[in-house]
Amino acid sequence: MRVSDFPVDIQPHLFPQPSGDLIYRCLQCEEIFNIESLLYTCPECKSVLLIEDREWQRLKEFSGSFWRRLFDYRKMLNHPALKGIFLYYEIIAPVIPLEDIIYLGEGHTPVVQANDGLRDWVGVDFYFKNDGQNPSASFKDRGMACALSYLNYLVRSQNLTEVLSICASTGDTSAAAALYSAYMSKKVKSAVLLPHKKVTPQQISQPLGSGARVFEIPGVFDDCMKVVEHLADNYHVALLNSKNAWRIQGQESYSFEVAQSFDYDLANKVVLVPIGNAGNITAIMGGFLKLLDLGVIDTLPKIIGVQSEHADPVYRYYRETDPSKRIFRPVTVKPSVAQAAMIGNPVSMPRVIRLVEAYEQVPNSPGVFVVQVSEQEIMDCQLIANRNGHIACTQGGECLAGLLRARKEGIVSDQEVAVLDATAHALKFAGFQESYFGDNLNGAYEIVPKDELRNFPTLVEAPGVERLPAPGKPLSEDEFQKFVVATAREIARELDLKEKGSG
Ligand SMILES: *Cc1c(COP(=O)(O)O)cnc(C)c1O
Ligand SMILES: [Zn+2]
Repeated sequence: MRVSDFPVDIQPHLFPQPSGDLIYRCLQCEEIFNIESLLYTCPECKSVLLIEDREWQRLKEFSGSFWRRLFDYRKMLNHPALKGIFLYYEIIAPVIPLEDIIYLGEGHTPVVQANDGLRDWVGVDFYFKNDGQNPSASFKDRGMACALSYLNYLVRSQNLTEVLSICASTGDTSAAAALYSAYMSKKVKSAVLLPHKKVTPQQISQPLGSGARVFEIPGVFDDCMKVVEHLADNYHVALLNSKNAWRIQGQESYSFEVAQSFDYDLANKVVLVPIGNAGNITAIMGGFLKLLDLGVIDTLPKIIGVQSEHADPVYRYYRETDPSKRIFRPVTVKPSVAQAAMIGNPVSMPRVIRLVEAYEQVPNSPGVFVVQVSEQEIMDCQLIANRNGHIACTQGGECLAGLLRARKEGIVSDQEVAVLDATAHALKFAGFQESYFGDNLNGAYEIVPKDELRNFPTLVEAPGVERLPAPGKPLSEDEFQKFVVATAREIARELDLKEKGSG
């Protein structure tokens, strides 16, 4: 829509100017640090950081209803910098000039309602938010758009050269980091570290295709993470793991979009999210708290984190109901089909603890819960969701399994409405589906395929057909006709079709 066609009180706010005073704050010692250099951990105590806007109060000069209108009108604006997560510019990273923002089509992913059958099966109305419909096919693009836009700004304003972006990943962070770095390929080179044989073929093809240097490391993700941390501590690299607090800022857009897609009415809403390194659940809680503080929403949604039995350190932490007795213990992970969440020592755990506290302190807070599900439930739920029109990855299946578990435990009533994060596209994890169908999943997953969920292609070899079509060897008209009729008849027989005109 043309600027002149927007309401006059909105027009001056459509294109925001840089504002605010952003700093890194250490979650342990509370020390603050300047954002002009890239920091990943506190130089004083090594704990993780979050970004804070010291001039946040300025945003409260406008009412909640003003922000709602501005965000809603911006959806009609055609300006690349404000098309994605930066539609919520003022509450994401308002220090980045619009000219430095990188937009590759991330954000504003579809929210798809479950059909009646699925709703009745679960016993509650729910939606999948398809974050697999981001450019690199996972939610990681949200954080990467923010982190790389900020890096782009630093590169320009500080005349940086030969910047190397680096990350460790369970697959999707690398795909996103490599994609956004590739867009800046004149200024930024990219390297990714992946646990050897612990990412899917699709996931490894992504950074390779984007031209990144790809290193496979023996061990699991937690081991990769240690190597990348050592690199970030001792060499000049830009770390793109979720230790990078700019990624958390970008990922908050998920909450802003959920709120917007329900016209900012979050009463009786439940948001379910798989937990791996715990960056996503951190950002989601942080995002809703920001909206509440600005009066954009007046109720927080309930938050439910979901973990597999095979990688459940956050579940174990919160299983202890007495907060004073909670002790965080990393776990050694076992193989999980929710491979992107297969993390035993989540980097963002201190952030989670801080934000859960803040979330639960809000008067009438619906609270934060963590539930645990089995590998079997994850796989079955993914397949059931997708047999009902969704495109959930295994982690999306984990969310649905989590909703079932939460229903069983009485955490979610039939009056509530759930939003499930389908964090990546089903195609990235097609191998797990294939192994389930073929009943050759590694025994370590402890999954027994259910016959009614398996599916196979059928090769059609019609009887009586002597010659088959082949590239470069066309059949005669007569042979071809025979082939078509016999093959069609064979398919009709398989499908038990009734012939037209046969009554
Ligand atoms: C990274 C990832 C997760 C886990 O998110 P965290 O922020 O690490 O907790 C879940 N699903 C998919 C598809 C992912 O890529
Ligand atoms: Zn500190």
